[in-house]
Amino acid sequence: MKKILLLLLAISIVGCKNSEKKEAKKAAVKLYVLDGGSILVKKLEAFSQDTTYTGQTKQLSDAYYVISHPKGNLMWDAGLPEQLVVAEPFNEPSGVFAVQRADSLVNQLKTIGFKIEDFTYFAMSHSHFDHTGHANYMKDATWLVQENEYNSVAGDSLKTKNPALTALTKVQKLNGDHDVFGDGTVVIKSMPGHTVGHQVLYLDLGLEKPILLTGDLYHFEENRTSKGVPSFNYDVKQTLESMDKFEAFAKEKNAEVIIQHSTLDFERLKKLLKK
Ligand SMILES: [Zn+2]
Repeated sequence: MKKILLLLLAISIVGCKNSEKKEAKKAAVKLYVLDGGSILVKKLEAFSQDTTYTGQTKQLSDAYYVISHPKGNLMWDAGLPEQLVVAEPFNEPSGVFAVQRADSLVNQLKTIGFKIEDFTYFAMSHSHFDHTGHANYMKDATWLVQENEYNSVAGDSLKTKNPALTALTKVQKLNGDHDVFGDGTVVIKSMPGHTVGHQVLYLDLGLEKPILLTGDLYHFEENRTSKGVPSFNYDVKQTLESMDKFEAFAKEKNAEVIIQHSTLDFERLKKLLKK
């Protein structure tokens, strides 16, 4: 009887080790998607160079992401500021957006077992207010930013332009694509146009397809199919060139494209990551 029990114990230990091994391989790079706020676009025409969307409104999400890698953790984008954790959406002065954030960074990280101090790297697709929200908390992480984007927001004007960024003192300036952990699993791709140093993120999580986070290259599905360029973009021609480059890369990698402001893709990605 004792022998049988020992045998069963041995089998269960071996079984456990095997599944742990499998799990470890699968879990090498992990992605978590978090809710950085909601954006109601009250004047959708702002997202076109013409009158395509005049009279329309649209609900956008504002996701940010945590990527855990054996060599460290990266946070991608930073949602809306925590001052917008309020009961009613805030109507900003231009009249285009109503914005609101559901919860603080600390509370949201807690839901996935992370703390603010856990991050080696911090990067944003670009430095607009809906992506820099809680950036001030990321002061211990190294900020990975395109040099021209940094120059466009840095210097004396930084405090007035975007106070959330003044806390970021550890800076690694990039000039083009950047393989964050050096193994091809997490790669920042330079895709300028929306801003001078806009970038997107390629992630190979070992899933069926790699994932491509668009930043604000596109804001919603129709934007992608019609190659619509928002009225507030830095450079229209450069945006269109980046869109072509992005589509060619997505095709080459057979990637799952996730539009960061799309409410549909926010839910779709959560489902993909649960599989
Ligand atoms: Zn945005």
